[in-house]
Amino acid sequence: MPATCEPVACTTTGESQSPIPLEPSQSSALAAPVTRYGTHVALIAYNSGYGLRADLPAADLLLPSRTNTLQVDGGTYQLLEFHFHAPGEHVWPGNVRPALELHLVHADARGNLAVLGVPIVVRPGSSNVGFEQLLQQAPAQRGQRRSLPAFFNLAQFVAPALGGATFRYPGSLTTPPCSEGVRWNLTDMSRALVIAPTQETRYRAVFPQSSCRPLQPLNGRVPLRVAP
Ligand SMILES: [Zn+2]
Repeated sequence: MPATCEPVACTTTGESQSPIPLEPSQSSALAAPVTRYGTHVALIAYNSGYGLRADLPAADLLLPSRTNTLQVDGGTYQLLEFHFHAPGEHVWPGNVRPALELHLVHADARGNLAVLGVPIVVRPGSSNVGFEQLLQQAPAQRGQRRSLPAFFNLAQFVAPALGGATFRYPGSLTTPPCSEGVRWNLTDMSRALVIAPTQETRYRAVFPQSSCRPLQPLNGRVPLRVAP
């Protein structure tokens, strides 16, 4: 698939926009991010027009037993939704752009955002069970929602990406309004999630529009490579 990224209509501007190239990066002794994701997560699939989004039901966000969290920089951020971009938005060391990119969007109690970004690559002979479950419920029409008929094993879906190095930098949302103050944490390409060629083809059939924003100026930012 061609990696053509289209500018988005941001309503805010700033010097710390996303996405960026993750090379060069400096090593850091910062603590690695810690995720706690459930094995039985209720989800609502949503067609945002850009791609597939999976929302956690609002009622579940109030239940500690249903909470999915990311801990980073001493803060605890609660998962609100996750979504996909195709092609991927960030460029990993070695000038590698993944076929898709998963963004898990979290907020703390004050509304500060932290995103866990995960590269997704395509490999013949593979198939991704979690991606398949989402794909089968992807609403065909923009603006449509559909509750997943079964719980989603988010812990299992994300597990292959965890435990390696992560890249950390301050950035923004990559879709309007492009608000800044987002703590980005991106998992390593060596632990990319893997989907089948047919899964990518079917995803792009529902979401043919390119949903990656072009790379943004670093403006002095240096992404940090955080050891596991
Ligand atoms: Zn995103």
